[in-house]
Amino acid sequence: MFWNREVETMPQEILKELQLQRLKEVVKRAYERVPFYRKKFEEVGLKPQDIKTLEDIKYIPFTSKAELREVYPFGIFAVPLSEIVEIHSSSGTTGKPVVAGYTKGDLELWGEVMARCLTMIEITKEDIVQIAYGYGLFTGGLGFHYGALKIGATIVPASAGNTRRQIELMRDFGTTFLACTPSYALYLAEYAKEEIGIEPSLLKLKAGSFGAEMWTEEMRKEIEKRFGLKAYNVYGLTEIIGPGVAHECTEQAGLHVWEDHFYIEIVDPETGEVLPEGTRGELVITTLTREGMPMLRFRTRDITSIIKGECPCGRTVRRIDRIRGRTDDMIKVRGVMLFPYQIEQAILEVQGVEPHYQIVITRPQYLDEIEVQVEVSKETFSDEIKVLENLRKKLEKRIEQTTGIRVKVTLVEPKSIPRSEGKAKRVIDKRKLTD
Ligand SMILES: [Zn+2]
Repeated sequence: MFWNREVETMPQEILKELQLQRLKEVVKRAYERVPFYRKKFEEVGLKPQDIKTLEDIKYIPFTSKAELREVYPFGIFAVPLSEIVEIHSSSGTTGKPVVAGYTKGDLELWGEVMARCLTMIEITKEDIVQIAYGYGLFTGGLGFHYGALKIGATIVPASAGNTRRQIELMRDFGTTFLACTPSYALYLAEYAKEEIGIEPSLLKLKAGSFGAEMWTEEMRKEIEKRFGLKAYNVYGLTEIIGPGVAHECTEQAGLHVWEDHFYIEIVDPETGEVLPEGTRGELVITTLTREGMPMLRFRTRDITSIIKGECPCGRTVRRIDRIRGRTDDMIKVRGVMLFPYQIEQAILEVQGVEPHYQIVITRPQYLDEIEVQVEVSKETFSDEIKVLENLRKKLEKRIEQTTGIRVKVTLVEPKSIPRSEGKAKRVIDKRKLTD
């Protein structure tokens, strides 16, 4: 099923021509209308007409999140505020928030790309779409809303939180599709079963889009098993448009990027050098058609790679691998780089534990210590000490094999790791407080 067959299956050569034409336009518009970009261009002596091929994009300076904060709130807008019809914003928990402005055309575009995502996983107007991402300044709720509206599905705008109600709505309305963070999906399944006595796999859910945080293939299997649905990766970010930049198709083999609107590059996170297709690095995105807020070479800090080869679904737009973490989630411990992703993978390969964990890093003396707290299942928890001790050792060994780092595993009681209605907090770095 295609929402927009023509562009979704456009031959790559024609797509590249379209991208180049749009790149030239967006560069010109950004240079002429946004002093922030003009200054950056002038600093490196670049003029819009210097961009003659797609490869020339490498001469355009990157845009970082820190720079966007400096021009808070509207310094990146390319149209007068009267043309902006909606504003979203990042949470700003780690500094000033980043503000995103949308024109009417941008909202139209957002609906279009999200409609493609949903259609790609066989969501139609017959579906009942429950959106459990937060509505409001966060882009998750309204992004899915615009896409579902476009395809004419029945929308249940539940927003985040109110877990009991979410499950009652699913049961009473016969929800067939769920959108939320993967950690919240797990919590919903657990809550349904244990607090309300509803077996989640008996609900009518057939598919779900999960994103806004890192999750592994093992976590996907877990969510699919509990709800009896197909779980898909969705990708997006406030700075670019919100959810809808990329989404998996029914092959579940990477996320198709809507390349007619978003130009992607993978760069070395340290040097900024553009890496060849297939190499893992930091995703950099240029918006080709955004009116209100053109974004040139935005450093997403998300780690992924471009997947080589064609997808069996018939779409020609390229795919990226699932997000492996963020450059700022990278934990440097005793000189070794470590991603929470690797730890999640290792934990979920071991039987008898729950998919809830937290990584605590301390520096008691001069050496970093990592403690991984892992929840055990109710059945395991009532086992003998010896069984638990064996499980603990097994986890430590598995994590060491995956990461090359020796960690201390602590088994904790069922339900003792805090549950989240949004993004889960996986890493607690106590070194920052003691340094
Ligand atoms: Zn595909």
